[in-house]
Amino acid sequence: MPYLHATYEAVRLNDGTRAWLKTAYREYYFHGTDKIEVPNDPEAREFGYIPFGGGMIRHLSFKTKGEALAEILKQSPSSVYCSNARYEYPARPIDEKGWLGAELIFDIDATDLPTTCKRGHDLWYCEKCHASGKLPRPEKCTKCGGPVAEFHGKCETCLDAAKDHAMRVIGFLTSDFGVERNLIRLYFSGNRGYHLHVFDKKFDPLDQAARGEIAEYVRGSGLPLNQTLASSLRRRPPTGPEGAGWTRRITGYVGERRQDYPGTLQKLVSEAITSQRAMVDSSVTTDIHRVFRLSGTLHGDTGMLKKRIESAQGFDPQEDPVVLSDRPVRVKVEFYPRFRMKHRDFGPFLKPETVELPSYAAVSILTRGLGEVEIVNG
Ligand SMILES: [Zn+2]
Ligand SMILES: [Zn+2]
Repeated sequence: MPYLHATYEAVRLNDGTRAWLKTAYREYYFHGTDKIEVPNDPEAREFGYIPFGGGMIRHLSFKTKGEALAEILKQSPSSVYCSNARYEYPARPIDEKGWLGAELIFDIDATDLPTTCKRGHDLWYCEKCHASGKLPRPEKCTKCGGPVAEFHGKCETCLDAAKDHAMRVIGFLTSDFGVERNLIRLYFSGNRGYHLHVFDKKFDPLDQAARGEIAEYVRGSGLPLNQTLASSLRRRPPTGPEGAGWTRRITGYVGERRQDYPGTLQKLVSEAITSQRAMVDSSVTTDIHRVFRLSGTLHGDTGMLKKRIESAQGFDPQEDPVVLSDRPVRVKVEFYPRFRMKHRDFGPFLKPETVELPSYAAVSILTRGLGEVEIVNG
C-alpha cells in the first residue's frame, strides 16, 4: 500500500501484535524524530496517519514542526503522510482548503518495471489454503476455490532498476526542464521504489493536466510511432542539428549504434526509447491533493525508513533503510513467501509454524496479517 487508496482496508491485527508493532515503531521514533523532514511551512500542510490495524486519519494540521513531531511520537502509527500541496486551511475538507500550490513529485515503483526477476519473487497465494503460484493470478484458488491475493517481492535487480529510472527522471528534469540538481530530492520509498520531490517553485502552480504532461513526457508516451520516428531519422542529413529533448535523446542513441546494429532502424528507435524513458506512476504526479509518505518516517508495510538519499551510488536499499532492531521475536507465521532484507533470505514459510525472526524482518509478515507475535506469559 504505497499511498492512500480509496479502497484502503485495514488489516485485522490481534491486540498483542498491534501493541508489539506500535512499540517497535515508537522505539525507533523515540530517537529518530530528528530524521523526520517536516516541511518548513507545517501550518500550510495537510497531515495524515494510519494507526496499526486502523483506517486513515487525514485533514490534520499542525502549527509548528515540534507539534507535528510530538504527535508522530505519541501515535507511533503505521504510516505518516504530509501533503505536497500548501493550503490556506489544511484541516478543512478538500474543496474548502484553498489550494495554494504543490511541489512536483514522482513515484517509481519496482512493481511497475518489467524486470525478469519478478518471476522469482512475485506470486499469488490463496488466503484460505495458502496454495500459491506464478502471476498472473487466477480468479480463484486453483486448489480450493478460495480468494487469492498477490504478493510482490523485491530483490537487488528490481530495486536497482527502480533506482535507474529515478536517475532518468533527474536527467529529464535537469537537462530538458532546466531544474537545478540541488532542487531535486531523491528518496527511497521504504518499500519497493523511489520518490522524487522537486522544490523548484516554477512547478508549484501547475494544475493536474500540466503535471500529467510532464509525467507523460518522461514516460516517453506521447512520442510519435517508432515507424514515423525511424522514417524521419532516415531522411535526416547525417550532420543535421541534434535537436532537443526526446529528439536529441533518440538521435544520439541511434547515431552511436546504427552502424553495427543487426536489427531494423525501427527496432533501434524502440530500444532508444525504452532504455531512456522513466516509468513514473502518472497518477501520483497528477494528484495535487495527495498526502505523501513523510520522509524520515517508517513504512507501514515493511518498517523500513522512507529515506532521503544523498548519494544514489552509495545507497543500498537492502541495508540502509532497515532501522528497526534485530532483537529476536517469536512469530506464529501462517504463510509467507521468501523475502530478502539486509541481504539475507527469510522463509519461505509455506505451512503454519512458529519461527524466531529479527524484529526488522518480522514486521512485513505481521503488517500483512499473515503472522502473529507469540505472547510469552511470565
Ligand atoms: Zn486455496
Ligand atoms: Zn526483483
